[in-house]
Amino acid sequence: MIYMAKEPRQINLLPKDLPKQWYNIIPDLPEPLPQPKGDMSNMAKAMIKECLGQEQSLERWIDIPEELQEIYQQIGRPRPLFRAKNMEKFLETPAKLYYKAEGLFSPTGSHKINTAIAQAYYAKKEGFEKLVTETGAGQWGTALSCAARLLGLKSTVYWVRAVYQWKEARRNFMKLYGAEVFASPSQNTKTGRELLKENPNHPGSLGIAISEGLEDAISDEKAVYCLGSVLNHVLLHQTIIGLETKKQFEMLDGYPDVVISCLGGGSNFGGLALPFLGDVLKKGGKVKFIAAQSQAAPNLQGEYRYNFADYAEFTPQLKMYTLGHQKEMPPIFGDGLRYHGCSPIISLLRDKGYIDTIAYPLDEKYVFEAAKLFLQLEGFLPAPESAYSIAAAIDEAKKSKEAGKTQTILFNISGHGFMDMEGYKQVLGL
Ligand SMILES: *Cc1c(COP(=O)(O)O)cnc(C)c1O
Repeated sequence: MIYMAKEPRQINLLPKDLPKQWYNIIPDLPEPLPQPKGDMSNMAKAMIKECLGQEQSLERWIDIPEELQEIYQQIGRPRPLFRAKNMEKFLETPAKLYYKAEGLFSPTGSHKINTAIAQAYYAKKEGFEKLVTETGAGQWGTALSCAARLLGLKSTVYWVRAVYQWKEARRNFMKLYGAEVFASPSQNTKTGRELLKENPNHPGSLGIAISEGLEDAISDEKAVYCLGSVLNHVLLHQTIIGLETKKQFEMLDGYPDVVISCLGGGSNFGGLALPFLGDVLKKGGKVKFIAAQSQAAPNLQGEYRYNFADYAEFTPQLKMYTLGHQKEMPPIFGDGLRYHGCSPIISLLRDKGYIDTIAYPLDEKYVFEAAKLFLQLEGFLPAPESAYSIAAAIDEAKKSKEAGKTQTILFNISGHGFMDMEGYKQVLGL
């Protein structure tokens, strides 16, 4: 018999309990997912074939190759689920608060490694030698650099210039993995050169960096382009988060009433929420899903329509909630949340009323205060993006208190904040 405390603070799976399949929600959606529109040739040329296949798949369960299951163990999976009991006490809430710790044991500090490693694995199998990508906050670039290195591949990262310039430590982190890192817009691509001609100090954007990465990958046969969020196959790989969490709740004999995560393109939110959303779609039941966003990029409050995923319109158009693909968005420290569009899967579910959203103010004081409270009560330092999840979880716990309602609130800590002290310093005035 395995000993388990009555109200455990930490709920852990064994490596042998690691999910062996990812969950593909597409066949369970309330209506068919709108297909991408327009020119697919760039994507067909630039992307990993297996991922393109997964993008369209109607199989509900997709096997995680055995070798990849092993690599998931190498990168610290399964990850723990924690009960935030000190926070419950402090907030005097009848709610139970649980959080999944994606930053913990992640070599690069966030959930992004879950798909990076899968994409690197397939790219290698297909004979590619180099992975190319964009990055905003830098977490995705770091994850892909790590994944490429672990699989013996090279990597090139186009990094939004405004962030590249001040995150020197993270830049060096990527370089340690062997990545080639460029500030975007760069002189490497036509898109970059044209933008720099207009403005030599162009701050860049995620949309621009995607355009540059695609241009680079298309021009090199041995290179392949990898995306870190938004697309169906990325969310598919990330469902490992929610699938583990479901097993952890089974060990507790419990189930969440509220599921919360921050949302930029939708990969950590989708990763945690989709396995639970699948239950709701198949069996009914009331679970509240909340996506926590910034007012810098409240894409779920935008329009639901076809739009490009990148600035220069290399990608096909996706039906998604969007602010417009050339929208300028003010910088925030939770930069991973600063993207104009949301994943088509999450967008459809939002349109059908399954997902609520909240957008927190630009100055980020509210969310950083929430993160500080979490740190002081639970001990862990969250990434700025994860601070949004915590703020939303606290809001919900307060509502439970007002209503005198016992409920179980699950939230995701998408990453740790060990490399983000500058944001804490500036926003909280340390
Ligand atoms: C990238 C990132 C996010 C936001 O991206 P999603 O695709 O919406 O998950 C959130 N948290 C962290 C730590 C990130 O690195």
